Amino acid sequence: MTFPGRRGAITICALFCVLGVACTEVLALPPGSQSFDPPPEYRLWWSMTEACSGLRGSFADIDWYVVPGAAVIPADSRELGGEWFEQGNRIVLAGADQFEGSLVRHEMLHTLLRASGHPRFEFLERCAGVVVCADECIRDAGPPPTPPAGTPLVSPSAIDVSVEILPAPTRASDFGGYFTCVVTAHNPANHAVVVQLPSYGNGKLGVAFEYEIGTDSINKVGTWDFAYDSEEKFFGPGETKQEPFDLVIGDPLQGRLAPGQYVARGYFGDHRSAPISFTLSQ
Ligand SMILES: [Zn+2]
Repeated sequence: MTFPGRRGAITICALFCVLGVACTEVLALPPGSQSFDPPPEYRLWWSMTEACSGLRGSFADIDWYVVPGAAVIPADSRELGGEWFEQGNRIVLAGADQFEGSLVRHEMLHTLLRASGHPRFEFLERCAGVVVCADECIRDAGPPPTPPAGTPLVSPSAIDVSVEILPAPTRASDFGGYFTCVVTAHNPANHAVVVQLPSYGNGKLGVAFEYEIGTDSINKVGTWDFAYDSEEKFFGPGETKQEPFDLVIGDPLQGRLAPGQYVARGYFGDHRSAPISFTLSQ
């Protein structure tokens, strides 16, 4: 499910079965759906989804559809960015989200789970950050765990933060030029903590993961993600959380990064990682 600036997804599948003999699909694909061949970056996103979930599936068995030009696709009474149909293992994406990695991976996780629901363990724990899960997805997942009584509230400086560029080496000729800036947050303590995240002016939601990539201190790009789910602030003893940010090599006028040398930093809250240098190649 996609709202402006917020992402998530819901899946609907319905069959009308007559006496167990013949099944007729009741819900057709959204109007305007067109079949397409998955681009190379989907392979990268598939491997990320397999890795976070620990599940294996057949990428080739997915049938892909897009509604060109659509900001959302209608489903039931909702408007979604993507939808998985169990029958035929089909994924339909709104044109606006066809290259939105976290949403495409959300639908991929449905295909790996072969389920339309959003279990917290898969969507907000194992694959948290890798797949988008906000709004209805969080409500479907159910309430977050309650930190044990006495769990200390700590500042982001209590969390170890690091950053990594994957895949490495990073080339325009691989995966359509797509790559990820993966920010890692690790609780080094042998006890649980709740991190007090800065809100940056937003009244309720704290800012969790953030990245920054540049050629110098002036020319840089970056973005942050809110902690839509409160479990994001709760770390068990020694727990590690990650969020990959999707980027692509190409023309800077199209919001892409030109081949060259860069420095990346990651943040969790306002705690900044050490910088790393990396190269984007042709
Ligand atoms: Zn979903």
